[in-house]
Amino acid sequence: MKLAARMNRIGVEGAFKVLARARALEATGRDIIHLEIGEPDFDTPPHIVEAAKQALDQGFTRYAATPGLPELREAIAAHVSRTRGTSVGPERVSVVPGGKPMIFFPMLALLEPSDEVIYPDPGFPIYESMINFLGATPVPIPLMEERGFSFDLNLLRDKLSSKTKMLILNSPQNPTGGVIPADDIRAIAEMVRDRDLMVLSDEIYSQIYFDQPPLSIASVPGLLEKTIILDGFSKTYAMTGWRLGYGVMPEWLVEAVTKLMVNSNSCTATFTQRAGVAALNGPQDGAARMVAEFQRRRDAFCEGLNTLPGFRCSIPGGAFYAFPNITGTGLSSDSLADALLERAGVACLSGTSFGAFGEGYLRFSIANSFEKLMEAVERIKDFLAANERK
Ligand code: PLP
Repeated sequence: MKLAARMNRIGVEGAFKVLARARALEATGRDIIHLEIGEPDFDTPPHIVEAAKQALDQGFTRYAATPGLPELREAIAAHVSRTRGTSVGPERVSVVPGGKPMIFFPMLALLEPSDEVIYPDPGFPIYESMINFLGATPVPIPLMEERGFSFDLNLLRDKLSSKTKMLILNSPQNPTGGVIPADDIRAIAEMVRDRDLMVLSDEIYSQIYFDQPPLSIASVPGLLEKTIILDGFSKTYAMTGWRLGYGVMPEWLVEAVTKLMVNSNSCTATFTQRAGVAALNGPQDGAARMVAEFQRRRDAFCEGLNTLPGFRCSIPGGAFYAFPNITGTGLSSDSLADALLERAGVACLSGTSFGAFGEGYLRFSIANSFEKLMEAVERIKDFLAANERK
């Protein structure tokens, strides 16, 4: 039996492949420091877990309205209105099982084979995978290290065409940790304002920033109608396994996403949605502590990376990744990432796992303890010294 041809066009995430290789090495007795996977190393705050337990006891175990429980849609609308400085009502909210479905469903609902999608490279690999899967045309735009991993705005202007149906923005960014400067967001808003396209603004790291808060393009007057805000609970509340995310978008698109949800999930698990209400309306100190700890690790880890010969690491403004330039080592990203795993016991990702423009970089997740991160720097230092002597 042959799979459908479209299955030749869908991709996967490099992080899960490297995790599998790292686990196989561990099974042979090797000690590996895991800096490959993009998942907070914190537990979900206890009041959120408690809310889910209570919901189960109260009978939140059945189907519910497809776009989400009314109380969660309300809480999300209030949260997004507050954090994005704009006014959105619950009718614009669609609750889905994780952030990823908010890439999958809007793309499925909007893209035709002749459409072009502009997206960041290096960027979250699911964007390119889904564009190819749907037979649309991928138009990657390189992120510029010297611009804090923002786009070259002139290049973006050149790439926008009558075929551009979607522009994907991601800030704070995976894999670079870059935050798109507010002036760039305003300039991009002016470029797209009169175009017949939608902006998919991936804001899954919206609450994890260390300096300036990121500006959502939906906050720019008039842009709410053209924007799909993707956000969720996985990163901010350390809830990756709960599968709870959402989108905020015009109502006509909520309707389309709801139809796709009816055909796939029916609804998002109801007791996890009740936990989501507790996450948004309850105490935020757990999330704040996590961000403060990420900042402490970011400062020390990037400082450590910057002492390594051939490495140059800009300081990420958000998310929980470091994305050093490693061209000075003379090695390719793939071969250095492989060697660090096999010979130094440090699992990280090649920049090329995020697109061709990721060549020359590695991605380290700082979602591991301070001590492990410092040890990783030492291991890489020893590896580079041994490699130099060879
Ligand atoms: N968008 C970006 C940029 C991400 O890095 C991730 C997760 O790694 C997601 C979306 C998906 O989030 P979720 O795990 O909630 O599906």
